[in-house]
Amino acid sequence: KYFVNNDGLLYKLANKGPIKVKAVDDVSFKIEKEDTLAVVGESGCGKTTVARSVLRLIEPTAGEILYRGRSINNFDKQELKVFREDAQMILQDPRSSLNPRFIVEEIVSEPLYIHDQIKDDLNLLDRVWELLDLVGLSKRYSELFPHELSGGQARRVGIARALALQPEFIVCDEPTSGLDISIMSAVLNLMKKLQQEYQLTYLWISHNLHEVRYISNKVAVMYLGKIVEITDTDTIFNNSVHPYTEALFSSLRGINDDWNYKEREIIQGEVPSPINPPPGCSFHPRCKYSFDKCKKIEPELKAVEAGHLTACHLYN
Ligand code: SF4
Repeated sequence: KYFVNNDGLLYKLANKGPIKVKAVDDVSFKIEKEDTLAVVGESGCGKTTVARSVLRLIEPTAGEILYRGRSINNFDKQELKVFREDAQMILQDPRSSLNPRFIVEEIVSEPLYIHDQIKDDLNLLDRVWELLDLVGLSKRYSELFPHELSGGQARRVGIARALALQPEFIVCDEPTSGLDISIMSAVLNLMKKLQQEYQLTYLWISHNLHEVRYISNKVAVMYLGKIVEITDTDTIFNNSVHPYTEALFSSLRGINDDWNYKEREIIQGEVPSPINPPPGCSFHPRCKYSFDKCKKIEPELKAVEAGHLTACHLYN
């Protein structure tokens, strides 16, 4: 009954024709060089739409995305080609993101072909081996097909492919989903090491808050297509202010965690449909602090202190 169009809008097939729904609305943030900004929130909150829009895989219907101060939506063909080299993406599912008909050598070298960066075949194989070495895989993996790789190895191949064009910025869309905890740690350590070595900047999409705490230095919390709180990682884990952030993060706090133990809080109710979002603050039907104003007026994202913004009437 529903589908997402190329522009990222969710449509409902209704008797009177499609109804437009904003999958992401009024989202604004800035990523500095070598930052890792994690975007967190429940499924369907708009994280992946943000990730895809930032890379211009989805064209926003309003607003703009600036890269080095210039709007990527106005890039000409040549500028877009350079941007596509600078900005890469690591896709969610390590296996399905690799072409099953290609061996690893072909998968990792594909971006070099597409971007016309092949000098000769011998150099190409050297470059593939170099990239595999960077992600901790030996030369022999270059001859394997994706089905011959473990989940962790497939993820490493995906990272090697993303590094092929020596990008500056990588969008990591749930890069550890589906991996065992030990493999997950290895991948996180690898991503940190690569970031330090190559001064990489990450936009990190995840719903794993432990992972977010380890990898990121800034966190944006999304709810129903909007950012409700954004600040540095320490603050979000220790001094978050938005009721949704508070409830979301308390749900993962365990008695053995080393940050202040607080009672686990179950968020009541379901995420409302984006087709018919509640008026006022979209979190109000589930918020235990909700008051009259929340039901009528939408809160703006405003600073509670330097570098810490939230969208809640309790703080505006
Ligand atoms: Fe809760 Fe009101 Fe704040 Fe929304 S604006 S999070 S309903 S207190």
